[in-house]
Amino acid sequence: MADKWIYAFGAGDTEGSAGMRELLGGKGANLAEMASLGIPVPPGFTLTTQCCVTYLGSNKFPDGVWDGVKLQMSRLEIAMGAKFGGEANPLLVSVRSGARESMPGMMDTVLNLGLNDKTVVALEKKTGNRRFAFDSYRRFINMFANVVLNMEHRDFENLIGAMKKDRGALNDVDLSADDLAELSKQYEALVKDKSGVTFPQDPYEQLRLAIEAVFNSWKNDRAIAYRRLYSLSDEWGTAVNVQCMVYGNMGDDCGTGVAFSRNPSTGERALYGEILFNAQGEDVVAGIRTPEPIAVLMERMPECFSQFKEICARLEDHYKDMQDMEFTIQNGRLFMLQTRNGKRAAVAAVRIAVEMVAEGRITKEEAVLSVEPDSLDQLLHPAIDAKGEVLIIASGLAASPGAAVGQVVFTADEAVSRAENGEAIILVRQETSPEDIMGMNVAQGILTARGGLTSHAAVVARQMGKCCVAGCTALDVQPDKKIFQTNGHLIKEGDWISLNGNSGDVIIGQAKLKQPEMTSEFTTLMAWADDIRTLGVRANADTVADCVAALKYGCEGIGLCRTEHMFFEEGRIDHVRAMILAEDEFERRRALDNLLPFQRSDFRGLFEAMGERPVTIRLLDPPLHEFLPKTERDMAQVAALLNVSVETVKRATEYHKEQNPMLGHRGCRLVVTFPEICEMQARAIIEAACEMKKKGVTAIPEIMIPLVTGEAEWEFNREIVVRLANEVMKEQGIKVRYLVGTMMEIPRACFRAGKIAESAEFFSFGTNDLTQMTYGLSRDDAGRFLPEYIEKNLIGRDPFVAIDREGVGEIVEIAIKRGKAVRKNLEVGICGEHGGEPSSVEFCHMVKMDYVSCAPPRAPIARLAAAQATITHGKYKTTEIH
Ligand code: ADP
Ligand code: MG
Ligand code: MG
Repeated sequence: MADKWIYAFGAGDTEGSAGMRELLGGKGANLAEMASLGIPVPPGFTLTTQCCVTYLGSNKFPDGVWDGVKLQMSRLEIAMGAKFGGEANPLLVSVRSGARESMPGMMDTVLNLGLNDKTVVALEKKTGNRRFAFDSYRRFINMFANVVLNMEHRDFENLIGAMKKDRGALNDVDLSADDLAELSKQYEALVKDKSGVTFPQDPYEQLRLAIEAVFNSWKNDRAIAYRRLYSLSDEWGTAVNVQCMVYGNMGDDCGTGVAFSRNPSTGERALYGEILFNAQGEDVVAGIRTPEPIAVLMERMPECFSQFKEICARLEDHYKDMQDMEFTIQNGRLFMLQTRNGKRAAVAAVRIAVEMVAEGRITKEEAVLSVEPDSLDQLLHPAIDAKGEVLIIASGLAASPGAAVGQVVFTADEAVSRAENGEAIILVRQETSPEDIMGMNVAQGILTARGGLTSHAAVVARQMGKCCVAGCTALDVQPDKKIFQTNGHLIKEGDWISLNGNSGDVIIGQAKLKQPEMTSEFTTLMAWADDIRTLGVRANADTVADCVAALKYGCEGIGLCRTEHMFFEEGRIDHVRAMILAEDEFERRRALDNLLPFQRSDFRGLFEAMGERPVTIRLLDPPLHEFLPKTERDMAQVAALLNVSVETVKRATEYHKEQNPMLGHRGCRLVVTFPEICEMQARAIIEAACEMKKKGVTAIPEIMIPLVTGEAEWEFNREIVVRLANEVMKEQGIKVRYLVGTMMEIPRACFRAGKIAESAEFFSFGTNDLTQMTYGLSRDDAGRFLPEYIEKNLIGRDPFVAIDREGVGEIVEIAIKRGKAVRKNLEVGICGEHGGEPSSVEFCHMVKMDYVSCAPPRAPIARLAAAQATITHGKYKTTEIH
């Protein structure tokens, strides 16, 4: 049915299910699912996301929708034995937004809809609870005014604040029934005063306006900014759920809460949640009152608690994932109001995945699929060094793990402007709200005085993978004075503090950090990933220290050693400069002879570290001017050192200057002019391999020639390498195995791949340059305008971040196909930044590469992404070359 805009749930008429989240939004789909499972859910109905999109397009409800709403309302009236707008037993509903992906606090919800000056009295009569009736009414007026009439929440807060002060009440719950009745009057007057309209008394008008407002909230600035941040589509729209109210604010045997079936910060298998007695939902999420831990429920209402635990376990079994739930208790009766797969910190994700396998809930493959590869990055971030001397000034909840060191700011705007200057900042707030999201995004860490593990700050920080300490009640935050005070310490804007997201400690000054330890769950999950994946993972590594890191992070070899980095080191750069300044070949060779022992020991170091794993060594790549001095002073110094005139140095610098150095005299083109550079490097590599052989270690050098454009140039370079290798082996009387291959980074070479592969033993795609040259986009300058392309939807993602499958990807495929056609055991890998980016890794799997190579700390991400790609796309046979 194309035109079905409304789906019922509960009271025996459930039409939706969990699989329908695109149409019903996550909230609506899961409410329907819970209703079908027989879990107590107040009945209601969902207007589809499609209805929202159509509404936003034409600014009116699609035909039949309003009749459908009325029909559904009569169904609810029958189910509840109440009447919407009725003056005996009024039916009240909530109007709740719910998009396909959860967007915490971004869109709007209205509770207690259906109340007016008459029904509130009816509600009082029916329940005999005046306080409850007016508490509900003042909440409704506030929310309705905020969501529908765009009035400031703060104006209402001020009124209730003044009332509390006047009555000497500490909390909202301390206000009396009459206070709340008076407050409702004040609220109505405020609405009239500020928005110029009389608060609507007709329940159906309230309902229509609220539904429209929720639809429109899809387009509010906050929601748009949020979608930009998380690359969510603007096209989806939000569903609207209209649901019978249940009341957590009828007295002390009532309450409302949020809970996770496991700890979202650590992953521990224990019900984690918070409850507020005698309250309605918004209070918890907004962090207005600090809630009590859910364990309190066990003491106060043991039956309710065990029912809740049972539901949690059922939902976990059903969804095979940790659940994030919202519930309300009305006079000792439990109702579930929401469930979804919970967002969690990376450590927690890993632990939950591994433990759920042990519990027999999910398979290893499901575990591997359940962890976002990019999130592993967080596990590899440094933590506060507990051994370092730190002064702890306060402690809050460890709401999101990790460490943060930065200067204190009190507003999101200040955070953004300081971060633009490259400052490390920590955002300190009483509590955060959706308006703070941009500030949170640029902060190192977030510290709040109020709110629990399920508060806005905590939820968003975990999602962002940022350290957060929440609910640090000892803080007295005074944003207007730009200070906070705690336990006798005064901290001003700009002061340094550190946060320990693992313990909840707030530390004065800049704490020392230490490298993180990998948990046993992490090791287990990675071992599963390694068992599953087809694609190899190598490291980009230039030094022995890099090699050590590479092995620690589970790399199987080196996929890219950039030899030019070795040239910059002390003791070498002078010889390099002497080589560049040499007047003739004889002098040049002499300088190169001086470099040889350095290079040989460099390579031996790599071989020793890597043992019998492949080590891909790229011969000299950058243009020579990069090695020359830039300033007058440096030039003079170099001239003196090399015993030449300053003029000579200047002339050389001038001579090597190029308009387009990235497209200039570099890589294998240098070798065409100065073959002796390649000779020296090839000699150093093979000599080092011979030395290893003598020690009984079979090193596996893969010699890579950069910037090749076609077969003739390739052959010219390759012949030099092979000639030198033969010479060295003859001198040493030793044979070593080595490969010679090419870096594929120029589109032309990809098209000539069939010819090149006649003698090339491997291809390694340098996708940074390949992207630059395929797009004709300077990778050094594009950063300035690419964001506009993304904003205007002209490209999906920055092609330097995630490989462009359509263009660059096709060139890669062509090269592989042509190469493999002439050489079946051609080894194929990738060594650009893309090698550590999950969607690019997936692409490499799809085109059946042998390995990806990435920076060592990205290797776990690549390993996991490669395993996920194998599960999704299946295994294949890799090249057997060694
Ligand atoms: P959000 O997406 O911002 O969490 P929700 O639609 O989930 O907004 O509503 C927020 C809170 O309002 C819920 O957690 C719940 O406590 C309360 N609430 C929503 N609908 C109802 C209802 N029908 N009865 C009682 N409380 C409700
Ligand atoms: Mg909710
Ligand atoms: Mg390159």
